[in-house]
Amino acid sequence: MTAETSTFTPSSRVRRIKVSPSTAAAARVRELKAEGRPILDLTVGEPDADTPRHVKDAAIAAIEAGETKYTSVNGTPALREAIRERMLRSSGIEYPDAAITVGGGGKQIIFLAFTASLDEGDEVIVPAPYWVSYPDMVRANDGTPVIAETTPEDGYKLTPRLLRESLTERTRWLVLNTPSNPTGVAYSRAELEALAEVLEEAPQVRVLTDEIYDEIYFGEGRMVGLAEAAPALRERIFTVNGVSKSYAMTGWRLGYGVGDPELVRAVNLLQSQTSSCPSSISQAAAVAALTGDQECVRRGVEIYRQRRDRALELLAGIDGLEAVVPDGAFYLFVGCRGLIGRRTPEGGTLENDQDVTLYLLESADVAVIQGSAYGTEPFFRMSYATDLGTIEAALRAVGEAVARLR
Ligand code: PMP
Repeated sequence: MTAETSTFTPSSRVRRIKVSPSTAAAARVRELKAEGRPILDLTVGEPDADTPRHVKDAAIAAIEAGETKYTSVNGTPALREAIRERMLRSSGIEYPDAAITVGGGGKQIIFLAFTASLDEGDEVIVPAPYWVSYPDMVRANDGTPVIAETTPEDGYKLTPRLLRESLTERTRWLVLNTPSNPTGVAYSRAELEALAEVLEEAPQVRVLTDEIYDEIYFGEGRMVGLAEAAPALRERIFTVNGVSKSYAMTGWRLGYGVGDPELVRAVNLLQSQTSSCPSSISQAAAVAALTGDQECVRRGVEIYRQRRDRALELLAGIDGLEAVVPDGAFYLFVGCRGLIGRRTPEGGTLENDQDVTLYLLESADVAVIQGSAYGTEPFFRMSYATDLGTIEAALRAVGEAVARLR
């Protein structure tokens, strides 16, 4: 059986979407490493730390106790209670049980929220730079992504004005992501309040706020989420979070969504016909993560902060590169306009950020992802969810490769 002899025709739904560029980049890095190339990989979208011991123990205990069967579609009562307490702790909001659902990662929850709500032609406002999956998730669910291009002057954040310009009668959702992948910038309470004011006059619009990185936050105190900043909009806000990033649990596939019980009911209905429920073992592990000692989260943030500061310091010494200073998450979005038009030692010209990314891979053995994948050029995203030694070696190699340009 080969691709050439296959008579399979994918649905129009599938033909509308593409492989996530971060998945593609990770695959390319694996290939090159398999060929023996010493690639310094800054494409990773997951914590380098191991899942905390007490979380693994809880999963092992769940297996031993026979918690290995289907659970309710919306998760075990213990997990929903842990999420309820977590939301109360992080936002001061008391969500009823019916407002909470869990799924196989925040990614699945976002996808199902769109499946549950979008019809052909419905518009979803996605501020750029965006997490690569949002536009394709909208397309896969018959919606139309409306890209709102933010500017450096506005710190790559959506402004009330840009939001107003992007709204139409067909707008069903605004997607917010704070702190953002790929920029790491987070919205302040005042910025969220200003966006909420615009949305108060657009009752047809709901907000899907992806706050999966909210605990990896370098600002004072904790990050303020949209539902907390905009109580008047609360009925229309769907907050997505999960255990992947805060607790180094990407492979456990466990995320959650909190908001309007009617939307949650629709998401649950879809879950009941797709996955039935997320893994019972991962759910037990997530309970331990959310209710256990939070020292692992605090330690993670300190480590990311040190790496961020060191990476910013090294980037500042490279002519032609300019980083956006992140408030959270573990990515740096690096502007490379200063390199466009320069010539490589091989005689080529760097025309765009794809060329820059390729040049860094070929000439410095450093893997990053081009900004165009996130809807904003010319940039590249580098992750600092990797050890300081790799970050330093990579940025030194980038500096040397840039110095070889003319
Ligand atoms: N949102 C954003 C912005 C992300 O970067 C990711 C992971 N790359 C997710 C959601 C999904 O995370 P998960 O499905 O592991 O919960």
